Amino acid sequence: MQIYYSIFFFLIGCVLASFYGVVATRFSEGKSITGRSKCNHCQHTLSWKELIPIVSFLIEKGRCRYCNKPLPVYEPIIELISGCCFSFAYLHYGFCYELWVFLLLISLAELIFISDFRYMIILDSPLLFSALFLFVLKWISFGFSEALWSLVDGLALFLIFLFIGYIGSILFKREALGGGDIKLAFVMGEALSIPYALMALVLSTFLALPYATFSLFSSEEREVPFGPFLVSALCIVFLFIDKFETILNLFSF
Ligand SMILES: [Zn+2]
Repeated sequence: MQIYYSIFFFLIGCVLASFYGVVATRFSEGKSITGRSKCNHCQHTLSWKELIPIVSFLIEKGRCRYCNKPLPVYEPIIELISGCCFSFAYLHYGFCYELWVFLLLISLAELIFISDFRYMIILDSPLLFSALFLFVLKWISFGFSEALWSLVDGLALFLIFLFIGYIGSILFKREALGGGDIKLAFVMGEALSIPYALMALVLSTFLALPYATFSLFSSEEREVPFGPFLVSALCIVFLFIDKFETILNLFSF
């Protein structure tokens, strides 16, 4: 039975990645979610056969059937990674509270990677959905007071990020943390609780360092999207929470 569920989660991961790609692109460009997908080059409306995750790309050999221009190669790669992550999450957690949180965090990561790297935007709607989803899930799993405390954690981290952003803007004389990053902090606090969320913040700066250094020396554009690194750190800390607990215990007396 486990093998069928892993395949099921793999397929769901692939399909959702394809959907998230559409959501992130259209919302970031200010377009509506309704309406059929089109080829980016010739604007030909794509049929359902050309929208099957990974499969369509392989059948069409990575090119548009109508104008023969290359299709974006990152799309099937993201779909494949998403499928693997969903399947891994099921195999790692089984059916429990952590599975649904981790699937939500992977989904949020996919949306933020696309919107923040491509458009320097973290969309409000996925953050709002995530905050509500986590609240309701915590309420169902652990009761109302636990759910309420997770909101307090979210609010506290939101205020901490707001303060860091304010200090950063005074020190560097420009926006140090984007509004989207500060709103993402709410979800981080809600999902992890304050001590672990702060560890995720520290980890995210280490994750961002190579990219920031690279972009500083390689191009004119100096602004670094921080969201992808924050949400990656959030996923890593959530996945290895027992390891981070050991580190946390070293600092508590
Ligand atoms: Zn085309």
